[in-house]
Amino acid sequence: MWSAGRLSPELLRSAVEQVAAAHPRALAGEGFWRTPLVACADARDPLFEGLRQTAHPGHLLPSDLLAGARTVVAYFLPFSRRVISSNREGTFQSELWARAYLETNELISSINERLSIILDGCGYRSATVAPTHTFDATTLLSPWSHRHAAYIAGLGTFGLNRMLITQTGCCGRLGSLVTDAVVPAGTRPSLEFCSFRRDGSCGVCIQRCPSNALSAEGFDRHACYQTLLANERHRAYLGRADACGKCACGLPCSQERPGTAPVLR
Ligand code: SF4
Ligand code: SF4
Repeated sequence: MWSAGRLSPELLRSAVEQVAAAHPRALAGEGFWRTPLVACADARDPLFEGLRQTAHPGHLLPSDLLAGARTVVAYFLPFSRRVISSNREGTFQSELWARAYLETNELISSINERLSIILDGCGYRSATVAPTHTFDATTLLSPWSHRHAAYIAGLGTFGLNRMLITQTGCCGRLGSLVTDAVVPAGTRPSLEFCSFRRDGSCGVCIQRCPSNALSAEGFDRHACYQTLLANERHRAYLGRADACGKCACGLPCSQERPGTAPVLR
């Protein structure tokens, strides 16, 4: 059973996996997700303060979400090969991709709820952030970035496509929560996982973007968002599926870390 003295990233990962495995879309034939990854960051890591310069001037600190925060728990829910393959072709997101996006939003809320219950049972407090739609309508920036929290925790490095590339690729969704429990922090990779960022090669993701939002020089957030809204309209019968994912599917980094170079720690 859970106890305060036994909290570890591996135990948290097993809790995340249990919630994902119990989800109806994890059943054989539906299979939306592969094995989750979990890592923790020290809430006092100076990189969180640095996000106000690198990500968003209004980015929150873990202590803004929870007074006395000590750890940020970040997790990655990699999409299954079936979901990824479905979205390789076509201008709009595949129906399966849109469904996986929507179901994963629900799964993230369930995982946060489960982790909060576990932490509470061990005598710790926690604070959660919604999986998506927390951004400002004008700037399209969110006050809390799950991607950056996962990077600080050591789950991966950023790709040219702006996604976090993990050991199991970039196709999937990230979640995070803040707690006042102390859980050992992960180690960040000392190697860029993205081939372009490592040695200037690849760049395939740029060619996949239907709105030319991606380039080697930067990212046009507003052009991307217009495409997400067009996708949402196209799949309106499913709900608010403002997603796309064309710059994440069918790439060397979709399902795994590209290249064979060892990760130096
Ligand atoms: S497709 Fe290539 S350049 Fe683009 S993020 Fe993946 S590894 Fe980097
Ligand atoms: S999500 Fe779609 S529109 Fe946005 S950068 Fe990726 S491919 Fe382009």
